[in-house]
Amino acid sequence: MFDLIIRNANLPDGREAVDICIRDGKIAVTGSKIEATAATEIDATGRLVTPPFVDPHFHMDATLSLGLPRMNNSGTLLEGIALWGELRPILTREAVVERALRYCDLAVSQGLLAIRSHVDTSDPGLVTVEGLLEVRAKVASYIDLQLVAFPQDGYYRSAGAVETLNRALDMGVDIVGGIPHFERTMSEGAASVEALCRIAAERGLPVDMHCDETDDPMSRHIETLAAQTMRFGLQGRVAGSHLTSMHSMDNYYVSKLIPLIAEAEINVIPNPLINIMLQGRHDTYPKRRGMTRVRELMEAGLNVAFGHDCVMDPWYSMGSADMLEVGHMAIHVAQMAGIDDKRKIFDALTVNSAEAMGLQGYGLAKGCHADLVILQARDPLEALRLKAHRLAVIRRGKIIARSAPRITDLMLEGRPAKVDSAEYAPLRTATS
Ligand SMILES: [Zn+2]
Repeated sequence: MFDLIIRNANLPDGREAVDICIRDGKIAVTGSKIEATAATEIDATGRLVTPPFVDPHFHMDATLSLGLPRMNNSGTLLEGIALWGELRPILTREAVVERALRYCDLAVSQGLLAIRSHVDTSDPGLVTVEGLLEVRAKVASYIDLQLVAFPQDGYYRSAGAVETLNRALDMGVDIVGGIPHFERTMSEGAASVEALCRIAAERGLPVDMHCDETDDPMSRHIETLAAQTMRFGLQGRVAGSHLTSMHSMDNYYVSKLIPLIAEAEINVIPNPLINIMLQGRHDTYPKRRGMTRVRELMEAGLNVAFGHDCVMDPWYSMGSADMLEVGHMAIHVAQMAGIDDKRKIFDALTVNSAEAMGLQGYGLAKGCHADLVILQARDPLEALRLKAHRLAVIRRGKIIARSAPRITDLMLEGRPAKVDSAEYAPLRTATS
């Protein structure tokens, strides 16, 4: 007797018609045609059942603040930072908490159950930190929320940032952040990387830096981050977010750099939606794409995980907590449209992101947390193509979100009465 059985599931690795049996919030057994009963059974009818989506790079203190106090007119990263600087002093803890909780509701409906959020530590009042610590506790039963102490205005560039970042870590923020390309000079940026890695080593914390989020090919802080990671013995615990300057770097230099990043076992976190929106803004034509070298980094064996970064905030007016939208953009910008390419992109929204966040008990193996999403699509490729509708979201064996399939009634003479876009998948056996 189980608590829940999901029958006839297609899994991301290609297995079909699998039954998933759940007991005490964990995956107890998986197999075909399992003879057992459960308090609740769901027939997935050959649709994809996956571990939940994971967003390893987000800004929950700014989300849903679009238009406050005004819009970003130039659409640039720098105006976004300036605009956030206008909003930050008038933020209240209550408003930050309310917006973040609303975002988490949306995330759950999209099957997004783990989020790493940067939290701005620049303001001495630390309203953002207090607010997101409250949110982390409030959502703990349904979302794994990690917080990164993020000195948005620069660790050395902004007066008091050294003290406020340390205070945020004392308050219980999980991870050390940074923004070396925003410091006043290259050398101050490099010094900030060293200082922040030292703090992480001393406190036993991971590192996740906004690193080289610029089109400047000379922005090479990732090189310093890799070197300091090894110096302080932080291999596997460090993430380099964005790395957009790598798009514009000299190819010879990159041929040296990628092995260095691999040696340091740095998790790479591009943010395709934001990178394509904010980078290349100083170009006329041709315009650069402004996303890092995803294919080459994956081929070097690096763990590449995609983040959403922003939803309706000073930097990005779009977004819907849909990690499949992130993957959809990644396929286009990285030009990774092959079958194996798309499987890798799906992994970058799920297992790779879980690895970047260091999540325990994530996956479909026996003993893993029973955290699952049923999608209105047959397989990961179709899920990405359709940005598939979420039919059910399960956390620790309990259904926490459910939706009817999206099907359209068609009123055309001599044509089918209903359209389910998921049924337009390519044929399994090639026939002409
Ligand atoms: Zn960010």
